[in-house]
Amino acid sequence: MKMLEGKVAVVTGGTRGIGLAIVKAFLEEGATVALFGSRQETVDKALTALKAENTDAKVMGLAPDLTDYKSVEEAINTVKNTYGKIDILANNAGISAREPLYNYDPAAFENIMKLNVNAVFFCTKAVAPIMKENGGGSIINTSSMVSIYGQMSGCGYPTSKFAVNGLTKSLARELGKDNIRVNAVLPGVTRTDMVAALPPEMVARIAATIPLGRVGEPEEVANAFVFLASDKASYITGATLTVDGATQV
Ligand code: NAD
Repeated sequence: MKMLEGKVAVVTGGTRGIGLAIVKAFLEEGATVALFGSRQETVDKALTALKAENTDAKVMGLAPDLTDYKSVEEAINTVKNTYGKIDILANNAGISAREPLYNYDPAAFENIMKLNVNAVFFCTKAVAPIMKENGGGSIINTSSMVSIYGQMSGCGYPTSKFAVNGLTKSLARELGKDNIRVNAVLPGVTRTDMVAALPPEMVARIAATIPLGRVGEPEEVANAFVFLASDKASYITGATLTVDGATQV
C-alpha cells in the first residue's frame, strides 16, 4: 500500500525545486495533487512535464496570488470542489534575501514577509476548515536551517522562517483538537536551480562544512514531507525536522 493512497494534497511553489520534488513524491505515493505556482505559464509547463512522465498522474495546477487572501481562498475552494476534500497542505513557496541591512530596501523586507509568512497563514486559514470538516489533515511548512542560526546578511529571510516555525508550533497546539497536525521541515543547502547556478568550487566549499560532506537533494527533502504527510506520522505535530546533513554554522 502506498503511503498517501487516497489523499488529496496542495503544494505551493510546486513548479520547480523542492516543491516540484514534493509534488512528484506525493504522486508516487498515490496522492492526488494540486500544485500552486506564481504564474499560469510555469504551472502549465510543470503539469505538461508531470503528465509526460506519467499520463495517469492525478494532478492539477493553479496560479493564485498567495499574498492575497481572497485569491488563496478561491484557489483552495477550487481544489476542494474538484477533488472533494484536502488532506495535506505543503506550504513551500518562498523567496530568499541576501541584502545587508545598510542596503536593505524596506519594501523588499515587506515582500519577503508577504510570501514567506502571510501566505503560509492564508493557505492554512483557508484549508483548516476543510480539513476539520473531513476529520483532520496534515500541514507541512517549508522552513529552513536559517530558522535556527540566522544568517550573516539578508535578515528578512531568517526572520520569515523563524515566523514559519512560530506558526507551526502555535497552530499545532491550536488545531490538535481537530486532528490537524502542523509540522515544519528545515532544509539545509539543497540542490535547486539556485545552488546549481553557483560555481562548482563554491558548492564544494559549502559541502566541506557539512558533516555528511555534500549538499542535499530536493528528493531527500521531499521524503520528509511524505513521512509527515502520512499516517505513519500520526502522533507527530509541532515538530521542526531538520534535513540538513547536520549542518553547523
Ligand atoms: P525555488 O526558487 O526553486 O522555488 C520556489 C517556488 O516558489 C517556485 O515554485 C515558485 O513558483 C514559488 N514562488 C516564488 N515566488 C512566488 C510568489 N510570489 N507567489 C507564488 N509562488 C512563488 O526555491 P526552492 O529552493 O525550491 O525553495 C522552496 C522552499 O524551500 C522555500 O520556502 C525556501 O525558502 C526553502 N528552502 C530552500 C533551501 C535551498 O537550499 N534550496 C534551503 C532551505 C529552505
